[in-house]
Amino acid sequence: MFTTLWSAAVDANFAVVVVPGIAEDVAATMKYADRYNVPFLAVNRAHGTASALSNVYNGIEIYIHALNSIEIAENGESALMGGGTYQDQVVNYLAAYGKVTSTGACGCVGMMGPGLGGGFGRFQGYFGLVLDNIIDMNVVLADGSMVTVSESSKSDLYWGMRGAGHNFGIVTSFNYKIYDQPVVTWFVETMIFTGDKLEKFFELLNILGANGTQPVGLTTYTVFAMSPEVSPTEPVIVLLLEYAGTESEAEPLYAPFLSLGPVVATNVTVPYTGVAHASGSGVEDFVCQNSDLSWKLYPVGALVYNITTNRQIYSLFSKMINDNPEFNNSVVQFEGYSLQGMKAVDPASTAYAHRADNLLLSYALVYPPKKSLDAIANKYGYHARSILHAGEPGRPLNTYVNYASSDETLEELYGYEPWRLARLRALKQKYDPQGKFDFYAPINP
Ligand SMILES: Cc1cc2nc3c(=O)[nH]c(=O)nc-3n(C[C@H](O)[C@H](O)[C@H](O)COP(=O)(O)OP(=O)(O)OC[C@H]3O[C@@H](n4cnc5c(N)ncnc54)[C@H](O)[C@@H]3O)c2cc1C
Repeated sequence: MFTTLWSAAVDANFAVVVVPGIAEDVAATMKYADRYNVPFLAVNRAHGTASALSNVYNGIEIYIHALNSIEIAENGESALMGGGTYQDQVVNYLAAYGKVTSTGACGCVGMMGPGLGGGFGRFQGYFGLVLDNIIDMNVVLADGSMVTVSESSKSDLYWGMRGAGHNFGIVTSFNYKIYDQPVVTWFVETMIFTGDKLEKFFELLNILGANGTQPVGLTTYTVFAMSPEVSPTEPVIVLLLEYAGTESEAEPLYAPFLSLGPVVATNVTVPYTGVAHASGSGVEDFVCQNSDLSWKLYPVGALVYNITTNRQIYSLFSKMINDNPEFNNSVVQFEGYSLQGMKAVDPASTAYAHRADNLLLSYALVYPPKKSLDAIANKYGYHARSILHAGEPGRPLNTYVNYASSDETLEELYGYEPWRLARLRALKQKYDPQGKFDFYAPINP
């Protein structure tokens, strides 16, 4: 179903679905919407979780999945991609030519959905965020006009769309940097630990992360989750360690964790096209299915793993699940990507404000779609977020736009430097004065 969204907590209401075959169809639809003042929303992979998406009422869904062509440029250094392309498609297409690029880590997410707000993934250490690789974009603006946005064409918007892009237009296609694949073999180690190992576990992760200088090509993804086979009452700690290299090259990275005594330890060596599935985030895996479950995320950007607060979060999570078994598919996520490529970019050069962060932490709630449970989710989510934030003494709350739940301040989403917000507000006034793009981390006046 075109109108089925990934999270049942997102309750966007569409009166009609338009499936554009070419960019001009998007423009014609938006001109119609503009003339009759009908709300509209671009939907690609439908993974957006912002609760403001539920404010679309009697709207037009512009389902852009057919704008999914990919064409590699003759020089092999870029590709023209449709606004409806997505991670698994791009990874597989480029692999056939020995190429790779920055994408989200999960196989199912779009290129532009994540990319307009950041785009975190496994090649971030090499090439930066998704938005760092956008050369230009063909965009339909709120009034239906079609423009090209780049360093030399509407450069003000080029700055703003790389970080706050959901606010300004629909990207129908974009030229995107691609690269020769730096490695052929990837190693993925999965380990499961009992909760009593928590302190030693995060000590090791802090050593590995080395305050933002985690080896290029290394991604660690940790979750607290329930695993009844290990314990019916206490969460386990799951580590996914993914490395661009062979098992022997990865051995010094994962050996200290093995010494800690996981209850489960398995590994595989795969080509890059197999990494997402090997990590449980491939298109065929549970997390990628449009579900009949509600999902809500409460994210916090961090510098290091705060061991004291992580123990508090573990206890809160355990209590929440034991008191509210409907939440037993929930997780606490700790995402640790390599950062060198992302940090090499001048923070002022794009609207993405959180380049100082090293880690993305989030309390991720999954539960049956009942209104009564939304209140419980928010109660635990906000509490967890305040604990995670307290683990970052002296730092403001930084929120990843693509995980935001819609109650955040503009500073939390787009940065605390006054010039950033002034610039974004001016852009909003110039390109979307009537707030037609206000359903995803909107820049309000
Ligand atoms: C299972 C899962 C895995 C995730 N993995 C990652 C990850 O690895 N890395 C990461 O950084 N984030 C990740 N995210 C967060 C992700 O960035 C956001 O959920 C993102 O909004 C998803 O984009 P989409 O195309 O899938 O969803 P959609 O709901 O289709 O789009 C999300 C928003 O982007 C807008 N949009 C989409 N395409 C365009 C376009 N071409 N032009 C203009 N606007 C557009 C939509 O209008 C909507 O407002 C993940 C989320 C989930 C639920």
